[in-house]
Amino acid sequence: MDLKKLAKALIPDEGLLPPEKYEEIFPQRNLEKGAEVTRLAPSPTGFIHLGNLYSALADERTAHTTGGVFYLRIEDTDEKRKVDGAVESVIRSLKYFGIKFDEGAEIDSPLNNYGPYYQRRRAEIYRTFVKKLIEEGLAYPCFCSAEELDEVRAKQTENKETTGYYGKYAKCRNLSEEEIYKKLKEGKPFVIRLKSQGSIENKFTFRDAIKGDITVTENDQDVVILKSDGIPTYHFAHAIDDHFMRTTLVIRGEEWLSSLPVHIELHKVLGFKPPRYAHTCSLMKMDGDTKRKLSKRKDPELSLDYYRKAGYFPLAVVKYLMTVLNSNFEEWLLKNPDGDYREFKFKIDKMGKSGALFDLDKLNDVSKTEISRLSAEECYDFLKEWVDEFGTDKDKLHFKDKEYLLKVLNLVMGTGGKKRRKDIERAEQGVRLLDYFFDDTFNPDYTYRFDKDTVNVVLNSFANVYDPADDNSAWFAKVKAIAPTVGFASEMSEYKQNPENFKGNVSDVAEILRIAVTGSPNSPDLCTIMGILGKERSTDRLKKALM
Ligand code: GLU
Repeated sequence: MDLKKLAKALIPDEGLLPPEKYEEIFPQRNLEKGAEVTRLAPSPTGFIHLGNLYSALADERTAHTTGGVFYLRIEDTDEKRKVDGAVESVIRSLKYFGIKFDEGAEIDSPLNNYGPYYQRRRAEIYRTFVKKLIEEGLAYPCFCSAEELDEVRAKQTENKETTGYYGKYAKCRNLSEEEIYKKLKEGKPFVIRLKSQGSIENKFTFRDAIKGDITVTENDQDVVILKSDGIPTYHFAHAIDDHFMRTTLVIRGEEWLSSLPVHIELHKVLGFKPPRYAHTCSLMKMDGDTKRKLSKRKDPELSLDYYRKAGYFPLAVVKYLMTVLNSNFEEWLLKNPDGDYREFKFKIDKMGKSGALFDLDKLNDVSKTEISRLSAEECYDFLKEWVDEFGTDKDKLHFKDKEYLLKVLNLVMGTGGKKRRKDIERAEQGVRLLDYFFDDTFNPDYTYRFDKDTVNVVLNSFANVYDPADDNSAWFAKVKAIAPTVGFASEMSEYKQNPENFKGNVSDVAEILRIAVTGSPNSPDLCTIMGILGKERSTDRLKKALM
């Protein structure tokens, strides 16, 4: 068979470059020995999930701890799954977590010498190599219809045989020259398939950078490499791209492990040295007593948007994921509580070989710790970023007054002193703690434990004497002075000795004032709160709270 002629008939494109030319266009990268080139290669489906972040972190750390490059490639061969804005969303979501690409789709970088980084824009490169394989007798056209393929599959299933297009089932593998040209002339649609050189009789061992040595059976499937619309399949496109983008280490989910024999064969027939592969284990969670994969349908926490919307501290999510990626990170973190996680020596081969457990409770703990370490300024920035995107109009207005909020945060979050608030996991919770410092979100619950007269005397008396210039002890002296006027003990010791002699004690006076000013019986230091609110608003609130 004249294969050159056949290749031309199947891929008629004029002006394709000679395949070798691409070795020159995309030369080996000029990097230090040991530098790894990694990539994130998502389909633009618009759903960016925790698994992507987990993988991206492994990619980014591997590239950047070895002096390599981390790039973004968009695998958009499946037009149907494409969602507008998906690429921007990947970049934005990862950036939120502090992960940046050095190169790639929509990345403004002088390193962008290996593009285009969208597979749909690389059609010529793929067609060049498909043509080459046809010329070499390593690929052929297949005219089987979907119905025919379904029939074969049904037969194979019935016979309990491996399904697919291989061996005796690869009907078009041995079409004669005449048959091929006849079908072409009839205008029959066709795909191009790999003419597999492998056999299931043969096994080979390959070294996965995470899982270690794995022995697999050779591929014998004549997989589709070019679809009838002239677009390559993922298998083929990724082999071409990882070669010409000079990827050294492909880090991807273990669901791809079963395709590995195909990928190894594709590199082989194309004459490429395959990159190294690292298959990461799936993220799992505990569901009752059983461990299961995180699921898009059941687990909102799989979506990265979940973390942004809930206002997780991004660095907390990253640090938590680092503990999942490398189990010795936790130990490092204990020794380096103030250290930048980027200083930790991440190692791909230290990643778990099976089922990485994702534990939301643990993430919450890390988040609490991280948030409790923020300065007032940092805390303001963090909360404001959340408010700008997800807060109410009132929240947005409140965050305009930075000076006021810094004072509030110093008190509420304890950013001003040693007593830090350690129970805030997410921005949303933090923002709600600020509500009572603003009149339009002050929503008091005036439930007092004392009768109307007592409450009113306390509130009126304090409103009459309150002076924001008082320091803590002067303020407290005034609270104390009110106690005997309502039959309360002004000294706790006095009260403890004879509680039956009093209706209450000085701390009950403070509680009444607290409910009036903050709307609840629990709050940080009341004297400071009143100082922040100022004389007018404080006395106003005392008056409004009269029964
Ligand atoms: N486009 C594939 C995916 O979204 C990428 C697989 C790979 O990283 O090789 O899962």
